[in-house]
Amino acid sequence: MRTLEIKRSIFITWFDNLLPDSQELLLAARRVKPNAQAPYSGFKVGAAVLDVAGYVSTGVNVERCTYTQTTHAEQNAIDNMVSKYGPMAISAIAIDAVNDDRRLLVDEVVLNDLIFPCGHCLQIIWENCLTDTTRGVTIISYLDSKNLVALAPISSLLPVRFGPNNLGLDVFSKLREDR
Ligand SMILES: [Zn+2]
Repeated sequence: MRTLEIKRSIFITWFDNLLPDSQELLLAARRVKPNAQAPYSGFKVGAAVLDVAGYVSTGVNVERCTYTQTTHAEQNAIDNMVSKYGPMAISAIAIDAVNDDRRLLVDEVVLNDLIFPCGHCLQIIWENCLTDTTRGVTIISYLDSKNLVALAPISSLLPVRFGPNNLGLDVFSKLREDR
């Protein structure tokens, strides 16, 4: 028997320590969050994606009473990007799903405090990743109502991924040919 080890890292830091691009992306997610349509869960989410051309696209969750037809914020942001600019690879996505006044300290954060994309959205994010399978997209998320954030590469949140390569496709080359 052989065991394949998976290394995962999630970084907790202060907003002020982030690069300007990451700060802007988080602020864009926080700005758009109040627009969420969440009458059933009351759980509003804002998301902002940074594509490889440097454009930012945003999205919010949009709930419907059937539940299964609900759109998640991350998917909405990526679909919004595609509608504006066409199919693109993304380099980062920021999320704000903090819906209370909680304040956390770096040293006290536990895994249950993290609010990262659900499995459905991780798959969607991966679909628009760079082809760099070792690093991929950086996912940044607010941890509290102030300035504590968590960062992780998608390889830490979705370590074993089903993607276009499993179908033998270089999907971005194909999409470029189709345009
Ligand atoms: Zn989701």
